Amino acid sequence: MNKLDSSLVVSALQEAGYDLTDSVRDADVVLINTCSVRGHAEDRVLSNLGHLKHLKKTRPELVVAVIGCMAQRLGPELLKHPAVDLVAGPSQLPQVPDLIAQLRGQHDKLLAITDDIRRPVSEAEDQALDTFEQDFDSDENQLPGQAFVRIMRGCNKFCSYCVVPFVRGPEQSRSPAAIVEQARKLSDRGIRQVTLLGQTVNSYRHVEGDRTVTLVDLLERISRIDGIHWIRFITSHPKPFDERIFQAMADNPKVCRYLHIPAQSGSDRILKAMNRGYTCDDYIRLIDGARRIVPDIAVAGDFIVGFPGETDEDFEDTCELVRRIRYKNCFIFKYSPRPGTRADQKLADSVAEEVKKRRNISLLDLQNKISEQENRNFIGQTVEVFVEGPSKNPHLNASETQALPQLVGRTGSDSIVVFPGPANLAGSFLSVRIAKASALTLFGEVAPQS
Ligand code: SAH
Ligand code: SF4
Repeated sequence: MNKLDSSLVVSALQEAGYDLTDSVRDADVVLINTCSVRGHAEDRVLSNLGHLKHLKKTRPELVVAVIGCMAQRLGPELLKHPAVDLVAGPSQLPQVPDLIAQLRGQHDKLLAITDDIRRPVSEAEDQALDTFEQDFDSDENQLPGQAFVRIMRGCNKFCSYCVVPFVRGPEQSRSPAAIVEQARKLSDRGIRQVTLLGQTVNSYRHVEGDRTVTLVDLLERISRIDGIHWIRFITSHPKPFDERIFQAMADNPKVCRYLHIPAQSGSDRILKAMNRGYTCDDYIRLIDGARRIVPDIAVAGDFIVGFPGETDEDFEDTCELVRRIRYKNCFIFKYSPRPGTRADQKLADSVAEEVKKRRNISLLDLQNKISEQENRNFIGQTVEVFVEGPSKNPHLNASETQALPQLVGRTGSDSIVVFPGPANLAGSFLSVRIAKASALTLFGEVAPQS
């Protein structure tokens, strides 16, 4: 979501005549797009602002803008920072080029955030956001042939630990006509894979006349666009989950068989305290059901370790769930108290940092073993890969004997595949025969194309 926001703002500024520069020292304007999900992300922004404060001593005309969730969360407080000229929240991104122009004219501080974040945006704001989305969805800053398309904004789930509902506002689904039109325009520009984005993407619903358009309908409508070959969607919430989505994966070859569906914990006690709305059994039943309909579905998850009150037994329940589900991969986070959330207001951050760290490492070890075992099943298989481009990972490029660069691509089920090939294959589909596997990567050679 943040990558998309950054690329929208960059395209809007490019349209206004700006260019990107590699070095802060050459910049007239510095924008920091921010995340508030964990304290660590915010700390890094503050440390960056510390450096910029020094730079501004020698370059007072430099404009520094903080945009996104942290801007919305801290607003006026952030504007007081000596380095900061502009603070603009996620709903104000369409205004950023104008606000910067104003600042460069008079060089005063400007604040542009939503006063009451849980109030649905006005029709005019909604229209501005939608137009921004449509006009600036430039693929220049993204991977060749791929684009993100936001289908929803905000979130209404109020998981007790999470700041998102307080910085991105209420859940709102964009109109299906606007989304399909955007996908069609992207396909005309050579986009072959779209990733539909939402905080709880499976709860997409938009009333159209006397019927409600859901994610299933949207997948169907987008798949009718000839140029679009692969459609992904992230992130799903386990409850409620419409099983017709699995049927769409099974029946429609354009719908990728990949489900990112965070469980967050395997302990019912903790899930209740997190306000997730399901039990561990509900979650297991859902994934078992998915696998009955789509046997080769790849399931990815998120977990939070060290939530307030999490005991060794609760953590063991989480490990047990990871063993039971056998995820493709998991993102694992240490609980970070977020101001304004119910968990922070009601529960002490009781698990020691050392314990959080230990549980994080141990869950990651467990998941890595599972990922490696699962990846070994690919050895000898030929998989279809959408090529991203040359691998940026130096150890993968180490093989000096290879005449060709190492390319990186992904399968429909989101496995990373590395293989030698010419760089101009970026943005195309290829068959690759897998010869080797690690926990995170499959390695292979281009297979004869069918
Ligand atoms: N809307 C998505 C993800 C939102 S944030 C969803 O519900 O799945 C991405 C991930 O950050 C979450 O899945 C969660 O695992 C993690 N996260 C959110 N708040 C957190 C917090 N306060 N501390 C640690 N991790 C957190
Ligand atoms: Fe946060 Fe929960 Fe909404 Fe995801 S579903 S964004 S974790 S409140």
